[in-house]
Parts: sequence; C-alpha cells; structure tokens
Amino acid sequence: MTEPGGEKARAGRVHPRWVVKLGTGVLSTPEGDLDLPQIRRLVEQVVGLKKDGWEIVLVSSGAIGSGMGLLGYGRRPTAIEELQACAAVGQPQLMRLYEELFAECGYHVAQFLLTYLDLDSRTLYENARKTMEHLLSRKIFIPVINENDVVSYEEIKFGDNDRLSAHVASMVNADKLIILSNVPGLRERDQEGGKIIPLVEEITEEIEAMAGQTRSERSVGGMVTKVEAARIAGSAGIPMQIADGRAKAVLRRIAAGEPVGTLFLARGQR
Ligand code: GLU
Repeated sequence: MTEPGGEKARAGRVHPRWVVKLGTGVLSTPEGDLDLPQIRRLVEQVVGLKKDGWEIVLVSSGAIGSGMGLLGYGRRPTAIEELQACAAVGQPQLMRLYEELFAECGYHVAQFLLTYLDLDSRTLYENARKTMEHLLSRKIFIPVINENDVVSYEEIKFGDNDRLSAHVASMVNADKLIILSNVPGLRERDQEGGKIIPLVEEITEEIEAMAGQTRSERSVGGMVTKVEAARIAGSAGIPMQIADGRAKAVLRRIAAGEPVGTLFLARGQR
C-alpha cells in the first residue's frame, strides 16, 4: 500500500498513528498458553503497517495469562498477590517473545509499564509521553505498554487494559484506538449470533445496556470496559474500533477503511 489507505492522519502527520490493544484472549490458546502462531500473525501485520509508515503503539495484555502457565495455575487465580506473581513471571516472557518476533523483521520493542498513578501525575505522565514520542520518532521501535500489575493494588488498579489503552491513545494523540479481542464487535445482544453493530455514533444508554460482561475466563474487562474506553478516547477526539483479533489481515483491512467490527465515533465526528 502506498497511500495511508482509508485512514487520515491528524494535522501535521503524514501517516496515521494508532494505538492497538491486544487482549489476553487474542494472544493465548484456550489452555491459557501464549498462542505463538497467532502472535506471529499479529506482529507481521504490525510490521506491514510500520513499513508503510504507520506509527504504532501496542498495549498488550497477556502477562498474567502467560505467567499462569509457568506458575502452574490451571485457571486465573483471584488473590491479588497471585495475580501479581503471574504478571511478574509472565511479563518478561511476553516481551521476550515480542522482541524475538519483531527483531526478525528489523524492529525492536520498548517496554512501558504504567499505573494509574503515573497517568494521574502531571510530571510522570509527561515523562512517559515524551519517552513515547521520542521512540516513535525513531521508526524501528514499537512501544509495548502494559499495566504495571506487580505494583498496582486494588484501589488504583485499572485491572483491564481497555481503559489504559484509551488513556495511552489520548497521551500520544493517536488517530485511532483499535481494540483487538476475541469478540468481533459490539453485539445487539451479548450472545453468539447477536448482530454486530458496525457504527456507534454516540454512547447512549441503549449501547451501554448491550455491553454485557464477557463470560470468558481468559478475558478481563468484557464489553463494558471497552465501551468505557470508547468514551475516554472519544472525549479526546479519538475514534475507537473493536475487531476480532483472529480475523485474517484485520489491521490491514481497518487501514484500508473496510468496515470491520464496531467503530465508535469520537466527539466532533458525528
Ligand atoms: N495487565 C493484564 C495482563 O497483562 C491484563 C489486563 C487485560 O487483559 O485487560 O495480563
């Protein structure tokens, strides 16, 4: 692709800047292990866009899921220190995998572990923002963000990366936030077979009512936090798209402006 496809970049930028959130369900197998072929496919798609000039920031879950296997948990634990231990063990596994896969294509990852407090402090927020801008200007780096689960505790925890990804999108003034998940979009009824709503112009009570909690053990926030993320991104003027992370060439199709999953318009776009 020679043109920035159906995507328009913000004023002053030649190519679009995207924040792409990869959920636990889309990175792992039903058994809870990291799904290597799937992660490779996602990395290849990101590399394809980078080669066409796109600026990409990844927000990746999967640390807890990946640590669970190594620590011998068959299902997601509930005690905070167990979850934190899983994240401590899983995060380096996850980053090692990303680094290996991106390095094969000539790119490198840059890890950011953020907490709510970092985003709440003007100084820390600015530090993170400037570091991210610097890395984005050096084209071969891909910032990979996760919540710093090891130090986050109940009261200050995002707990899900949906809302974190919306704050990151706002921090880097992204053109779009894309949430890749194991659900293909917002359904009229939160059930298999419920019709996917392609466009949400405004988050109404009716839309909120459709966003039932995800029942999968491997997912964290469900649709409720995705709609909240759309609200956060939208109020910063950033549209958000939810799509099935396992659908073939999903990022490329979104880049080409195809209607994939559910697009939430931002304030000012309606
Ligand atoms: N930060 C958590 C992890 O890396 C996941 C949160 C989420 O999936 O939204 O495992």
